[in-house]
Amino acid sequence: MRVYTAAVDDIEEEMRPCEVAVAASPAVRKRRGLASAARTAARALADVFLPRFCIVCGRLVPCESEADVCDECRMQIALPEGHYCAKCGAPMARYAAKCPNCRNMSLAMDAATAFGFYTEPLRERLIDFKFNGKQYLARTFGMLVAGAVRRSWLDAAFDAVVGVPLHRGRRNNRGFDQGQILAQYTAGALGIVHRPGLLKRARATRSQVGLSKTARMRNVKGAFKAAPGGNLETVLLVDDIMTTGATLSEAARALKRAGVGSVYGAVVARAGFEYNAPGSSPPDDEEESFE
Ligand SMILES: [Zn+2]
Ligand SMILES: [Zn+2]
Repeated sequence: MRVYTAAVDDIEEEMRPCEVAVAASPAVRKRRGLASAARTAARALADVFLPRFCIVCGRLVPCESEADVCDECRMQIALPEGHYCAKCGAPMARYAAKCPNCRNMSLAMDAATAFGFYTEPLRERLIDFKFNGKQYLARTFGMLVAGAVRRSWLDAAFDAVVGVPLHRGRRNNRGFDQGQILAQYTAGALGIVHRPGLLKRARATRSQVGLSKTARMRNVKGAFKAAPGGNLETVLLVDDIMTTGATLSEAARALKRAGVGSVYGAVVARAGFEYNAPGSSPPDDEEESFE
């Protein structure tokens, strides 16, 4: 894996060596002062003419915010500080030796992370995105996934972003493929190329809802095919929700068979660990297909 140097914002702030030499001159300081004032004015104008609203509570979000989620709601829906399995991203007890989720599974991805838990109010927003025609939420979800990726893997560099694809039939029914749209926005936020053609779902699979861990693995076995000649060192695989990681793992397996070196998985929300998130309910509603 190559070394990831800095977030996009940091790169903009970096000075080239020739700029460092003249940084102390009054002319440069004056220019910087004017530029800073112009940026402040531009932000104030953006707040008035291009207002952004929190997708959870509807309050105005400052234009410099990373995504359309206010600080209060972010505190409520983001994964709390804690211990998470390096392999599957599941929350773990502080001194647990083994992850309760993946100790009996052979997961093909190298690591996984999530922005938040699949609990209210994030769950309701994801249902709006997938089933209630609110595709505009993909932009914010993509930025939240990108933020989780930056925080989880500071030193990782990805050659491409790939979404976990729906089968053609399901995509035609729904009218869009949520994994690919999320991947597109995540890639944009990270400044990495999106490769939607790299991974295909070779066969339709039944919903994973209500299946045991073993049944989930069996259900998605061989469901994906990756285009040959990928030849990529590290790929970021994006989906909306993850429970045991069986689907991400099978998609990662197909990518690796096609020559990808490492696959990291990132999702908006992590389900199946409700005991760890207050005020939540298990995702047992058949309407909430995990695909
Ligand atoms: Zn809010
Ligand atoms: Zn694990």
